[in-house]
Amino acid sequence: MIPGARLVLLGRQGAGKGTQCVRLSRHYVVPHISTGDMLRAAVREGTEFGRKAKDIMDSGDLVSDEIMVGIVDERLDRDDTRHRGYILDGFPRTVGQAELLAKITATDPLDLVIDLVVPTDVVLERLASRRVCTDCGANYSVDTPPKYGWVCDNCGGDVVQRADDTPEAIQKRLDLYERETAPLIAWYADRDLLAEVDGLGSAEEVTGRLVEAIDLRRRSGASPSS
Ligand SMILES: [Zn+2]
Repeated sequence: MIPGARLVLLGRQGAGKGTQCVRLSRHYVVPHISTGDMLRAAVREGTEFGRKAKDIMDSGDLVSDEIMVGIVDERLDRDDTRHRGYILDGFPRTVGQAELLAKITATDPLDLVIDLVVPTDVVLERLASRRVCTDCGANYSVDTPPKYGWVCDNCGGDVVQRADDTPEAIQKRLDLYERETAPLIAWYADRDLLAEVDGLGSAEEVTGRLVEAIDLRRRSGASPSS
């Protein structure tokens, strides 16, 4: 296995994207960079774009694509990502963001964009059975409950169903994701950067398929990794 890869992972809520990002990050020894973490870190550290983002969020507005890409650019310019690569999680979300990302990664382009595909009925079932600790946010499900009653294994907090995990609310979030992301998936497919990977099965099985798709792309030499 050659360490290092430059990846974007796409997938609907409930597709298991978070779990697979962590596993791939260990496999390829690259940082897993999620949009939320990156934004919080930039604000905390007071980087140029972090300060801009903070001013905008303090005034109650949404951070623009330009500022978000500025934050991504600052993060990708660090030693760990420059030398080994990264897994981007939650970015880009739109074609506009993908175009800006292509500009800032022109010298070291993405190896692959992966769409983790899980059928709607499975996602609905997974999300409907999800239970969350109200204190620390740990995830459980009806099938994998805490050890003792609905009390969190980590912190002893109450484990409950989130109020917005009703079937109607879940369907609404999935529809929104579909509308936003379908053009992005088409955009990457047009540039021959997209692989669709089946997200059904155990975490190990899914990781195996992801690694296969990524290694196939790297062996094909379409975009040599450093
Ligand atoms: Zn907890």
